[in-house]
Amino acid sequence: MTQILIRGRLLSFKRAPLSLTDTDSYLYESDGALLMEDGRISVAGSYGTVRAIAPEGIEEIDHRPHLIMPGFIDMHLHFPQMQVIASYAANLLEWLNTYTFPEECRFVESEHAARIATHFYDELLRHGTTTAVAYCSVHKTSADAFFAEALKRGMCMVGGKVMMDRNAPQGLLDTPEMGYDETRAVIADWHGKGRNHVAITPRFAITSTPGQMQATQALAEEFPDLHIQTHLSENHDEIRYTMDLYPEATDYTDIYARYGLLGKKTLLGHAIHLSEREADALSEAGAVAVHCPTSNLFLGSGLFPMKSLMRRDKPVRVAVATDIGGGSSYSMLRTMDEAYKIQQLLGERLNPLESFYLMTRGNAEALSMADDIGTLEPGTAADLVVLDAASTPAMRLRMETVKTLPEELFLLQTMGDDRAVVETYVAGKAMKGALDAIQVRT
Ligand SMILES: [Zn+2]
Repeated sequence: MTQILIRGRLLSFKRAPLSLTDTDSYLYESDGALLMEDGRISVAGSYGTVRAIAPEGIEEIDHRPHLIMPGFIDMHLHFPQMQVIASYAANLLEWLNTYTFPEECRFVESEHAARIATHFYDELLRHGTTTAVAYCSVHKTSADAFFAEALKRGMCMVGGKVMMDRNAPQGLLDTPEMGYDETRAVIADWHGKGRNHVAITPRFAITSTPGQMQATQALAEEFPDLHIQTHLSENHDEIRYTMDLYPEATDYTDIYARYGLLGKKTLLGHAIHLSEREADALSEAGAVAVHCPTSNLFLGSGLFPMKSLMRRDKPVRVAVATDIGGGSSYSMLRTMDEAYKIQQLLGERLNPLESFYLMTRGNAEALSMADDIGTLEPGTAADLVVLDAASTPAMRLRMETVKTLPEELFLLQTMGDDRAVVETYVAGKAMKGALDAIQVRT
């Protein structure tokens, strides 16, 4: 049995914070410690308590004065778009056709897919992200590379082979049968292996024929425990085109509902321009709207009304994500900085406790996985991020005037990035230090 004790300031949320002064919503230990056994947290509390329980001679890692939190969770990103990020385009459809689709064609090559997978996990860990929900490309090879690398690193990952059978280059198209068969093959090969979870992944309604949507429905019925991920209502031109393709549907959301794809495990990327009826439909189904702020700003897609969706009589479940490569940063800290600014433009407040809740427990709850990830509660996986709010000269200077925990979190969110990540643990194993030692990875 491997036992490690780590010491530092602990922060873990028990539920969504209602205000800046809602101290009951989280656990904070100014001199805290975690006892980790075989990749899981066995005890969390004050250093004195944990030290007294821990066996003599246990390995002890001192992270004081840094903040130890559950590792960040990124609820939506595209693993084959690492070389698409920072592409200059006017809008979503131009960006997809000019840069994204040609790039994703390369993932038919397993060598290329494996190389990018290595970089993908390096970047996640460098940024303190320990779980992510990803789209692979249409090719099974991309899903194989994605899950093989997750298995190697012991990470809890959700992902799927994208299904798309129209409106893209030939090299990116499957058929309803192929999409069905290959998704089944990915499930058989990877689901439940290590900490891998396969998601049923129709890219979006524009790139799936009604025949493929039916195949997706068949998969969803056969594998009701799997997550389903797709995109919804990101951009006005996209919405118009989608409705031309599915004239019988009441609205964009109704297309997915008609094929039985709207449920508690459905993750809908963007969902910016929803009607009241659509928001009701999401709420009633328990489906999750996944907010991708850096992407929405970068592509000029729109301002996601996060707070008003959460506040409705029929509230919509919300999660947060980077959406690499439409998104412009791998960092969940940068992501929440932009999420904050979007709410500011909408006349809403997003307080820093809420932001850090969303990146951790909130996203875990949106995944229905809070019993395994997203908190520091005993029994959960020891997936952690260690943060330093004085990681740059400008931050260090600002930290001199910081007096409270929410102020520190807000500084981390506003000025922090991968430099604020001191260490990232996956199942109790320190991962970032080893990465920092790699000078060049080809
Ligand atoms: Zn996306």
